[in-house]
Amino acid sequence: MKARGFFLLLLLFTGSCFAWWIIQLDRLNQHSLMQQEELAYLRVEKAQNQLIWLAGSDSNAEESNSFHIGSLRLYISPALWDSTLNHYPDLEFSQEAGFIKIQPKASFLGSIRQKSREISLRQIIESTLFFSLLFIGFIWIYRGLVQAIDLSKQQSNFLVSVTHELKTPIASSRLLFETIFRHKLDYEKLKELSSAGITNSVQQLGLVESLLIASRLENHSSEISLQRVILSDWLENVLEALQQDYGSSLKLECHIQSGIEAQIDDMSLRLSIANLLSNAHKYGGEEGTIFVRLQQQDAQVIVQIGDEGPGIPDGAKRTVFKKFYRGGEPFTQVHHGSGLGLFIVSETAKRHKGKAWVEDREPQGSMFNLMIKTL
Ligand code: ADP
Repeated sequence: MKARGFFLLLLLFTGSCFAWWIIQLDRLNQHSLMQQEELAYLRVEKAQNQLIWLAGSDSNAEESNSFHIGSLRLYISPALWDSTLNHYPDLEFSQEAGFIKIQPKASFLGSIRQKSREISLRQIIESTLFFSLLFIGFIWIYRGLVQAIDLSKQQSNFLVSVTHELKTPIASSRLLFETIFRHKLDYEKLKELSSAGITNSVQQLGLVESLLIASRLENHSSEISLQRVILSDWLENVLEALQQDYGSSLKLECHIQSGIEAQIDDMSLRLSIANLLSNAHKYGGEEGTIFVRLQQQDAQVIVQIGDEGPGIPDGAKRTVFKKFYRGGEPFTQVHHGSGLGLFIVSETAKRHKGKAWVEDREPQGSMFNLMIKTL
């Protein structure tokens, strides 16, 4: 959030600089136009003075830039008169009621105004281009910064998850082996300790498997092996196996549309369904019923898994799918987890040309959607 605030401030500052820059350029242009116009009127005076000088002191000037034609022409030979007029191509010498009127040509004034407008436009275009490039640069830097922050968060989450989630079962297994090694135990006790050891190994294996699958899915160069299945039957089998693992603590309400066919990567999709069910069970309250629906919509299939838990706040609905993201503060987590579950779900959906998202569920809870293309 700090980075975003700083970035917005930077954008505001750059935007103000841009506005100030444009205003200053416009002022400068107006000023230069005024000077050019003044210069044109100075040339009027110069022409006037030159004619007076040519005619001698008997000019009979009656206005600042008007002369009585008769008296003035009398003192200037026609050749000199013509060459003087040719010397001022930007001035208009007109004869009005016996007077010579000298003024800048309307076309000349029009052309310097037009030129000034063109310069203004060119400057605005060039400045906009320059500041747009600056903005793009800022956005690039900002995205890099956000990615770096995300990466550092991921690394710290990864360390917390891996140290906690791997260390705990390893330490527990060591304790089990030490107990078996040091004490003479009866068969029943041995069986109980071995079963705890197996649970620990399954937990470690699960984490390592998740890490491997996550990196395989993330690495887009590695191929996934798609196979055509009757998805309805496949999902029923997966749910049946999970029901056996969890036992009676898992209460499912299934709505599975029959006969849906799709091309799937068995391993990643199986793990995704297991992750969504595990989350619904973990965060949705052990007493809650888990809603599962499979339905086809044109060339897409949607698997929905809903729970009756606390739900996910709107601000976290996209973040939960990031790698190693875990809700709540590190070190104070109530539930075990690696922060890889939903990342695997989202990557699996992408690999099947689909997407994953979460919505609120009425009256409470969350509904996770995994959409894949039937292909
Ligand atoms: P893990 O469960 O190992 O922490 P996940 O990637 O599966 O990792 O989930 C990421 C986070 O999303 C969880 O830490 C939790 O805060 C939140 N979350 C996931 N599923 C649910 C759910 N069904 N209800 C509420 N929060 C959930």
